[in-house]
Amino acid sequence: MNWEAIIGLEIHVQLHTNSKIFSGASTAFGAEPNTQASAVDLGLPGVLPVVNEAVYPKAVAFGLSIGADISRLSVFDRKNYFYPDLPKGYQITQMDKPIVLGGSVQISLDGGTLKEIRITRAHLEEDAGKSLHDEFPSNTGIDLNRAGIPLLEIVSEPDMRTAKEAVAYARYIHQLVTYLGVSDGNMSEGSLRCDANVSIRPMGGTKMGTRTETKNVNSFKFLENAINFEITRQRDVLESGGHIIQETRLYDPDRDETRSMRSKETAMDYRYFPEPDLLPIAIDDEYILDIKSKMPELPREKSERFESDYEISKADADILVSDPAIADYFEAVTKICSDGKLVANWVRVELLGKINKDSIENKAIPVSAEELGKLLNRIKDQTISGKIAKDILNILWSSPMVNVDDYINENELKQVSNTSSLEPLIEEVLKQNPKQVEQFRQGKTKVVGYFVGQIMEKTSGKANPQQVNQLVLKKLT
Ligand code: ADP
Ligand code: MG
Repeated sequence: MNWEAIIGLEIHVQLHTNSKIFSGASTAFGAEPNTQASAVDLGLPGVLPVVNEAVYPKAVAFGLSIGADISRLSVFDRKNYFYPDLPKGYQITQMDKPIVLGGSVQISLDGGTLKEIRITRAHLEEDAGKSLHDEFPSNTGIDLNRAGIPLLEIVSEPDMRTAKEAVAYARYIHQLVTYLGVSDGNMSEGSLRCDANVSIRPMGGTKMGTRTETKNVNSFKFLENAINFEITRQRDVLESGGHIIQETRLYDPDRDETRSMRSKETAMDYRYFPEPDLLPIAIDDEYILDIKSKMPELPREKSERFESDYEISKADADILVSDPAIADYFEAVTKICSDGKLVANWVRVELLGKINKDSIENKAIPVSAEELGKLLNRIKDQTISGKIAKDILNILWSSPMVNVDDYINENELKQVSNTSSLEPLIEEVLKQNPKQVEQFRQGKTKVVGYFVGQIMEKTSGKANPQQVNQLVLKKLT
């Protein structure tokens, strides 16, 4: 039988604030366990939460960016459950009246077609602490530094049909929250975590099947693997006559499989009720308009502008805007070297290639935009060859203080383009390779490339290849 998967994601985005959502404790990542948990985060009796106002504009900006309704009045609720990483015994979240309602995003699929994914809601809540299972052989450690970090939980409609679509959607949300400055987007530090709800049904069916929810997936690769594993597992269960149990599962990247964690709680289990220690959040039109006026350019708008302003392809523009830091860098380079295509090509191929190889976190580019711009200008004015420019880029990468023009002068890297110094070299190469010269005479004109290669080698890449090509042809004919 052919099956169709139905996927809905809940994405937890850590909001980028200095202090926690209900206490003054720091949110900085990587501190010693339990050094950034205040009495409020620890749930000690007698303390009261105070909302960190920095979370509102972030939630509102996200809502506006997806065309959602912003609730003029939203309410915090208590979600009660017992778990070692939740010292209060409840999580403060929003249930019936979330701050963001509705909206949608367009994801681009293979071949460039767009698909709309509807968003149900996005609500504010506090993160839980973290259980550390690997630190001690027979105990679990609890680190409460994460308890109380502000989260925006973004819940999608079950609009995705494949793992690839789900990843495209998660990537888009990641891009959006990074652009908006809502989150630092650092996935290896857990700033964006997905719960994947997956069910399957016979192809063309109208009723949705029973779903499982795979929790806390923190990389796009794992998300794709976890969903694909679930689809296959559910198909195997159904095809062998079993039925799917609605449950919470955990993805284990080491074994690339999902495992059952607990049977699914229902809303009733959580005994939600309005948080009595906090007032509702009231937001008026003026507040929303103010945030709207400060919204940055969003990725899709930026990509379209890059295409038309710099005359580059849509594919190049999409890659350049995939990260706001890269997009800014690209534009800064074009201020120095105005050839958009050349800059796009170098940023995309050379720099991103290097970044991915060195897997630099947060795409910190060690070469300043100004020096790269100067380097590209030296290619354009034919001072240096593309090959030498790549060598210089490697130098700049490890020694960011190097000045491109000084480096070219000091190392005598200027392209050799005066005919009188190239001609003797060409004659020498032709003399050394009588066989290839003979081949050329018999019509194998491709050997010219071989001669050019030899000259480039003799000049350590400093000759101008087009010019050498012409000179070689002239000599041979
Ligand atoms: P809960 O709060 O209990 O997790 P929700 O109704 O809020 O349940 O749904 C959570 C997520 O599950 C949403 O993203 C939704 O789109 C998705 N979802 C709901 N039903 C299904 C289903 N049958 N198959 C796949 N995903 C589903
Ligand atoms: Mg859920």
